[in-house]
Amino acid sequence: MYGEIKKYLSEELAKMENAGLYKHERIIESEQGVEIIVRGKPALNFCANNYLGLSSHPEILKAAHEGLEHRGYGLSSVRFICGTQDIHKELEQKVSRFLGTEDTILFSSAFDANGAVFEPLLGKEDAIITDALNHASIIDGIRLCKAQRWIYKHGDMRDVEELDPATGKNAKGLERCLKEANDAGVRFKMIATDGVFSMDGDIANLEGICDLAEKYDALVMVDDSHSTGFMGKRGRGTHEYRNVMDRVDIITSTFGKALGGASGGFISGKQEIIDIMRNKARPYLFSNSVAPAVVQASIKAIDILTESTHLRDKLEKNTQYFRQKMTQAGFDIIPGEHPIVPIMFGKYENSSQLAVEFANRMLEEGIYVIAFSFPVVPRGKDRIRIQMSAAHEMHHIDKAIDAFIKVGKELKVI
Ligand SMILES: *Cc1c(COP(=O)(O)O)cnc(C)c1O
Repeated sequence: MYGEIKKYLSEELAKMENAGLYKHERIIESEQGVEIIVRGKPALNFCANNYLGLSSHPEILKAAHEGLEHRGYGLSSVRFICGTQDIHKELEQKVSRFLGTEDTILFSSAFDANGAVFEPLLGKEDAIITDALNHASIIDGIRLCKAQRWIYKHGDMRDVEELDPATGKNAKGLERCLKEANDAGVRFKMIATDGVFSMDGDIANLEGICDLAEKYDALVMVDDSHSTGFMGKRGRGTHEYRNVMDRVDIITSTFGKALGGASGGFISGKQEIIDIMRNKARPYLFSNSVAPAVVQASIKAIDILTESTHLRDKLEKNTQYFRQKMTQAGFDIIPGEHPIVPIMFGKYENSSQLAVEFANRMLEEGIYVIAFSFPVVPRGKDRIRIQMSAAHEMHHIDKAIDAFIKVGKELKVI
């Protein structure tokens, strides 16, 4: 009977609405890109994961059409029954070559890849050591696995345990966790981290992590969803950016951000690990093959990025320009190099409402940006999170900066 739970759910929804937590979706009435239509009006998009502008790129669309035409709409099968086409193998090989890994296995999403990756490798006699700010899908993947779990304070490499003023609880550094796992007598250890953390755009210290992994004999797993295609000089990801290309054992990532933006994900790494995944990973064994149009377009995305670094170079230039101009204008920006640019409102009164009001005013000015406020981010860390794209032209960026300055003065933020 729906009656009782309907009442309960309605109350939950009302509570969320009252707390300002209900997620209202804004409707885009055009294709994804820089110039979009929101509520019948044109706007410049500055909050998509469309880092390289491939979401509606003509070559990607053409490849998707070709996939549809030559390999059909769908496979109606999991990979190991009759769901593997030549193009699935081609994409897996191209991703491996691009990342410098031994092999790659496709999933319907990176969320699935992270849900898959831990359970076949690690059991209750093993340990996973995970960054406190890792993505929800890593957290869920770890929950599906019986390994013992240590959580280290975000980005903290040290051999310490101390009070974390932000949470009022004790927190440990990575080296302390590794020592404790050793003392507990575990069999295998794996360190799991995002390559780039999406709220601040900060880049994991993979050199420090790999050094500790060597010292304590642990595997390293990196989720590079916010990096693959553009971080590092050739866009290979954070393992290239941090100069540890041959020291990361497992990379998971998505085709749903820089690499075309539709859907799909993968695990890439050592041969035996990928072979085990093909035989044991549940989201692989019991879920449908990635659709041919998506596969063919993803191959094209990898080809484009293998041929030239033009797009990631342009993204880098756009990001530097925007960060520099916004800092000059007096905005409080978390410094860094990633195209995620968080504009912080914590130092103002009523920072939560201010960030939301600012984002709404920006849309009136034709710039689509999103505010993140408490409790999505910690108290005092309210922000508008900008994401730059290689599809932004200088005039788009200048228009956004002008709008920021206009609204910033109006709301006394600068
Ligand atoms: C976006 C994201 C995912 C999920 O990717 P999908 O392919 O959309 O499921 C996983 N991990 C991280 C770090 C992400 O940013």
